[in-house]
Amino acid sequence: MLKASNFSPETAIYRHVVPAGDYWVKRVEKDQIFRIVDLEGNQAADTLFFSAADPAERYSAVDTIRAQGKVYLETGTKLLSTECNVMLEIVADLVGRHDTLGGACATESNTVRYDLEKRTMHACRDSWLLALAEHEDLKLTKRDITHNINFFMNVPVTPDGGLSFADGVSGPGKYVEMRACMDVIALISNCPQLNNPCNAYNPTPIEVLIWNPA
Ligand SMILES: [Zn+2]
Repeated sequence: MLKASNFSPETAIYRHVVPAGDYWVKRVEKDQIFRIVDLEGNQAADTLFFSAADPAERYSAVDTIRAQGKVYLETGTKLLSTECNVMLEIVADLVGRHDTLGGACATESNTVRYDLEKRTMHACRDSWLLALAEHEDLKLTKRDITHNINFFMNVPVTPDGGLSFADGVSGPGKYVEMRACMDVIALISNCPQLNNPCNAYNPTPIEVLIWNPA
């Protein structure tokens, strides 16, 4: 279900543009509103959420899908943790659906899916690992990188139960907005993938905005 937000960018307490291929990490407090904007359209924002109080508790794709009985994320979806607590709820969305099945690109999957010579191409998993290396205060390591959400990414489930990477359903200026239901650490890789249409073969910036509760 498409639902526009009542929050105006002018009243946000935080705004930051994340360049194509870069990462972004920040704590979002309980009840704050957190928006990701697909500035130019057809860009995948590969996102991980951790409980700020105990990062061992983190976003769980399987529990989120099971609880809502649907594979795509949309307005009203409650993003559940590995402890089945609600981490965030999607409260506005102009895209219609977001993927949480496809996982994130890695040099290993690029090699298997596309070509051996793709092994040195920049991938989301590299961006996350760089973020953890540059933010030791988070006390997160490689083993903490598990399920993610691919905001804006179109990964249709095929009739025979497979997954395909399809051209995006997002567009310039479309956004997804969440209310934090606990203090969370959000970690985004603004996907650098060039081998499939998840970024329309042209990675572009996203913007992140945060509002205090009304
Ligand atoms: Zn990626």
